[in-house]
Amino acid sequence: MYGLYAFDLDGTIYRGDEAIDGAAETVRTLRERGARVVYLTNNSAATPAGVALKLEKMGIPCEPAWVYGTGPFAAQLCRDRGYRQVHVVGEPALHQTFAEAGLHPDSRNPEAVVVGICRALTYEMIAQAADLIRAGAPFIATNTDATYPMAGGRLQPGAGAVVAAIQTAAGREPEVLGKPAPAMLLAAMKEAGVEPASTLMVGDRYETDILCGQAAGCDTWMVTTGVVTDRPHGQPGGENLRELLN
Ligand SMILES: [Mg+2]
Repeated sequence: MYGLYAFDLDGTIYRGDEAIDGAAETVRTLRERGARVVYLTNNSAATPAGVALKLEKMGIPCEPAWVYGTGPFAAQLCRDRGYRQVHVVGEPALHQTFAEAGLHPDSRNPEAVVVGICRALTYEMIAQAADLIRAGAPFIATNTDATYPMAGGRLQPGAGAVVAAIQTAAGREPEVLGKPAPAMLLAAMKEAGVEPASTLMVGDRYETDILCGQAAGCDTWMVTTGVVTDRPHGQPGGENLRELLN
């Protein structure tokens, strides 16, 4: 039993619009036993309210404050650092998150450049962001996932492909917020007042979820309900989230 359970979403709690078998029962039982629960997603277009609504419909306990997504997390980080003018390369949802956080778009003299997945990316956008970074603006990436899965198992280019284009043109590496970087998990533990020793990171991807937990100094647990169907040797985990309750 841990004080805090940090769950990845896609492939761990749901697959597309379907809850994964055992997810609702497991989260509900952990809450009844007095544990705290948070959800960590690299998807920069996910909003806490949107995730909470989606999980609620699936019968899975969730409140907006339990959700850590790289979009709102990037906006909060900019605010914490005192940035007001930010150049964002991303989906409309990311632009909206930044506007709602009181940050102003600035593509001339921004205090930071934030890059997430952007399906409308153009050569001009790469050139503009690279110019600003080369001129000295801090370079923040929401995440660097190479791909994300679509229905039918097809893979689409992820934020990592967008970040790599700008990084290559700018000649500078970004500060990465999403998993496997531990930033969101560390923030969740701090806000919950729980130490790494009493936190369990649960996810379906070794390279992102499990490495994130390890980097934060937490125990980790890998489910095989997502894309990956086998666990590295010695990695704790199970085939169904229910096994967490044993
Ligand atoms: Mg996942």
